[in-house]
Amino acid sequence: MQDGTAKPRKVVVIGAGVVGMGCASYLQRDGHDVTVIDRVAPGKSCSFGNGGGITTTSVLPLAIPGMMPTLVKWLFDPMGPLSVRWAYVPRLIPFLWRFWRNTKPERTRAITDALTTFMPPAYEAWEPLIEDAGLAHLVRHTGGLWLYRDDRELDRNWMPWQARQDRGLAIERIGANRIRQLEPAVSRRFNAGVIEPEWRYVRDPFEIVNGLAEHFKRRGGAILEEEVKGFEMSPAGPRAVHTDRGRRDFDAVVIAAGAWSHRLSAQLGSRVPLESQRGYHITLPNPGIEVRHIIMIGVARVAITPMTMGLRLVGAAEFPGVDAPPNYRQAQMVLAWGKRALPDLNTEGYTEWAGDRPLLPDSMPVIGPSPHYENVFYAFAHSHMGLTTGAMTGKLIAELVGGRPTSIDLEPFRIDRRF
Ligand SMILES: Cc1cc2nc3c(=O)[nH]c(=O)nc-3n(C[C@H](O)[C@H](O)[C@H](O)COP(=O)(O)OP(=O)(O)OC[C@H]3O[C@@H](n4cnc5c(N)ncnc54)[C@H](O)[C@@H]3O)c2cc1C
Repeated sequence: MQDGTAKPRKVVVIGAGVVGMGCASYLQRDGHDVTVIDRVAPGKSCSFGNGGGITTTSVLPLAIPGMMPTLVKWLFDPMGPLSVRWAYVPRLIPFLWRFWRNTKPERTRAITDALTTFMPPAYEAWEPLIEDAGLAHLVRHTGGLWLYRDDRELDRNWMPWQARQDRGLAIERIGANRIRQLEPAVSRRFNAGVIEPEWRYVRDPFEIVNGLAEHFKRRGGAILEEEVKGFEMSPAGPRAVHTDRGRRDFDAVVIAAGAWSHRLSAQLGSRVPLESQRGYHITLPNPGIEVRHIIMIGVARVAITPMTMGLRLVGAAEFPGVDAPPNYRQAQMVLAWGKRALPDLNTEGYTEWAGDRPLLPDSMPVIGPSPHYENVFYAFAHSHMGLTTGAMTGKLIAELVGGRPTSIDLEPFRIDRRF
């Protein structure tokens, strides 16, 4: 153990996405005997196809004052980021009710304050893992570039920028000339922008998780491709998981099962209103233009990232329920925005993908111990920030499992908070 406060334990981590592998890596560094269980190979679920942004200044929740009318507008706009499947709406109503409650100014402020403790140090938590696993070649520090049509559009959307400035986070407002200088391929329709100098991006989000997994195995960690069905209980609490292949004992368990985590937490007495906020990507193998930064199209919430396999465009927020098949019309909306921003884009040979962002109504992850069992820990619901904060979450979980004080106050991240 790093500080000798608690004995090494046999820990099972359920989920081999970026969050699960962040937890497994930090737990292994502390000397625990760690087994990761996932029904698919590491990094093959939501963590596979994200936008690669390490967006450490994204401290605003999705629910901000005035968001409800915007959501309604987006729903009826074919180029809007939001869509629902109407048959699923009755199931969504309790979630939307809670989401609405979180748009109150005092809630937005409290959530933003909590995320300001969590997001800005998130890259520091990545550094030792990236260095140990030899993954530095996959990370670029260029800053992020947000695009708006003109100053009026940016002024209308200034609230999140003001909130960042109020918390001392670096941003720089720029005009048309600077945009052309930074990104010559951007359309002249975009004449106002914001730079976030702290942002980094990852050139292959899957390879980051896969690289952590390979390093974890080289250091003696076990990864089992099995589906967890339930828990074996003893009078003191859960002691083993039952998978489709057998029984796996543990001293402690970490639930990092992304958009499926609520199904496992419910079995352990903690119900949470987790939804899948499905996003889509399009990857263009030969974009035919140069893009130097991670670019965000402000009103569309579409990100464009240069990656090793081509140019990736990501976006859309669909609420279909986690078991529904993908609707690639959403990916086409993302592509249409990409063409608006980068008119000379070559789209030949593109590939599409859909992934389930695990989202709670307050946009905050759950990170912390179970209120019922001392050996159960939760690490899920990272919505838009899982790549950014996978390592930070792992660091916090290792502190909890090791019985050490945590680097930040985890009270706002409790599983039994009021959503
Ligand atoms: C289009 C898009 C763009 C994004 N862009 C960014 C970005 O730029 N920056 C950023 O920080 N974040 C981004 N995100 C969000 C980020 O990808 C997610 O927050 C992150 O991948 C969540 O990681 P996870 O490990 O919690 O979940 P996952 O990667 O989904 O991993 C969870 C794993 O749990 C396993 N599992 C679940 N239940 C069981 C079970 N019963 N038994 C066994 N295994 C189980 C699943 O198989 C899965 O592999 C984006 C997401 C999308 C969809």
